[in-house]
Amino acid sequence: MVTLSSVIRPLTSQLHRKLIGHARSQRITPVRRCNLTACSSKYVLSQMHPMWQGPLAVPGGDRQSPIDIIVRKSVFDSALKPLVTDYDPETCQQIWNNGYSFLVEYDDTTDKSTLKGGPLQDQFRLCQFHFHWGESNAWGSEHTVDRRLFPAELHLVHWNSDKYSLFEEAVIEDNGLAVIGVFLKVGKRHEGLQKLVDALPAIRHKDSVVEFNKFDPACLLPTNTDNYWTYHGSLTTPPLTEAVTWIVMKQHIEVSHDQLAVFRSLLFTSAEEEVQKSMVNNFRVQQPLCGRTVRSSFTPFLQEAPSAEGDKHHH
Ligand SMILES: [Zn+2]
Repeated sequence: MVTLSSVIRPLTSQLHRKLIGHARSQRITPVRRCNLTACSSKYVLSQMHPMWQGPLAVPGGDRQSPIDIIVRKSVFDSALKPLVTDYDPETCQQIWNNGYSFLVEYDDTTDKSTLKGGPLQDQFRLCQFHFHWGESNAWGSEHTVDRRLFPAELHLVHWNSDKYSLFEEAVIEDNGLAVIGVFLKVGKRHEGLQKLVDALPAIRHKDSVVEFNKFDPACLLPTNTDNYWTYHGSLTTPPLTEAVTWIVMKQHIEVSHDQLAVFRSLLFTSAEEEVQKSMVNNFRVQQPLCGRTVRSSFTPFLQEAPSAEGDKHHH
């Protein structure tokens, strides 16, 4: 089973070898603070959760995630094709509380659940999906759109199976990973998500795992997957490698407050720990764009003001 944390230790030594030259000449980039209230609490969290304590294995680069997507600065790219997801619910295997989020893990030994198209040249295999969420509905997402925060964000993690044979290889390479991000808003109950929500009490504590089968992750995608932003970035959890083609959906999905409350009833802590901590605010602080371009597969201006755009063409 391929999981993020299972590769952190071997990766640390691999990356250390690979990056030792850079590490000597380059200091770890400090996290940027911003003046948003929620960003401040993100900053506090990054100081608190054990995952963010101690020196990071990778020196901060200039392609880190998450970022704020500034709509008017995103560049429409007509070459961006629709996404093609082909998920086999039979490859769903288990849910794992890894002490930071819960991971719904898929068998990725064959090309049974795949992603291609969109900005991608290769075929990518689904290995897991997970969420990030806040302690209240006012924040929780990792990415933001024009500084707008969402209560939660889904990440579907895929690795390039055309170029690499294992997640562990792909995670340290350019173009190794493709992650779909979907914003969650609070509204009506999400029927597809409920099967997952019902299974969560069994993995309340860190390190608990339960079998979980026949879950189609496509049910968590918005109805329109043609409209998205894409940029080159990193994992938002250690090892933070800059291997990710991010595909952030423009359209959000809706879940109920009660469904998010079950996410928040999970714990960062294991059963043995004396002081139990609620699993909330499990997102990384935002990172500087550093000159990167965010491309969009759609033209918001054409859709919102077709006449104005038409005029422009005539003059
Ligand atoms: Zn994530």
